[in-house]
Amino acid sequence: MRTMPAVLVVEDEPAIAELIAVNLRHNGFRPTWAMDSISAQREIDAALPDLILLDWMLPGESGLSLAKRWRAGERTKGVPLIMLTARGDEADRVAGLDAGADDYIAKPFSTKELLARVRAVLRRHSPEQSGEAIVIAGLSLDSATHRVSFADQPLKLGPTEFKLLHYLMGHAERVHSRGQLLDKVWGDHVYIEERTVDVHVKRLREALGAAGVMVETVRGAGYRLTAKPAVPVAVLDKANVA
Ligand code: CA
Repeated sequence: MRTMPAVLVVEDEPAIAELIAVNLRHNGFRPTWAMDSISAQREIDAALPDLILLDWMLPGESGLSLAKRWRAGERTKGVPLIMLTARGDEADRVAGLDAGADDYIAKPFSTKELLARVRAVLRRHSPEQSGEAIVIAGLSLDSATHRVSFADQPLKLGPTEFKLLHYLMGHAERVHSRGQLLDKVWGDHVYIEERTVDVHVKRLREALGAAGVMVETVRGAGYRLTAKPAVPVAVLDKANVA
């Protein structure tokens, strides 16, 4: 049950934007098109995409300036960004990467190359969107079949706990604030109290049983999923379960 990654295409040339959008759509992405910095900002304000393809040369504010602004913004700084440009020399490439772009594609490009780079950047940023099973210290989550198991014992999780675990396992060992988890798991612009996160983390720990200790509270910072919890995982003795 993978969701289709949303890609914001910021490009003032309709023919190129259309070419990119068609190819993204045919390959399981949800493209949105903005033709200048103002409409791009409007799209970003409405909903954060999973990735931004940003043309350098735009009417009005340039793509480079937009990239810098989004990188500096608390809400937008984590969104992966690929710069797209006809300016292929090294100084420009460096300026694009300095502005915080994750990758850089010089025009003209092949759609095959574009898709490969989009996938690579997404894989780096959101391993949970790659559609493969994630296994960490015996805890396994398969997003294709929606199955979770620990030490080969199947576990039952509610839908929100599943999404929460999916995100935490996809970004393991990193600390996520309640606000970040709300954004990533509940969805951007969903106004829910941060305490809701605590409630679902508690339910998730209960559902995980012995593996519950892998979901750690980091005081004053948030939560993290770790392969090496401070409290060691007590693997269930199968004889006791039976
Ligand atoms: Ca352009």
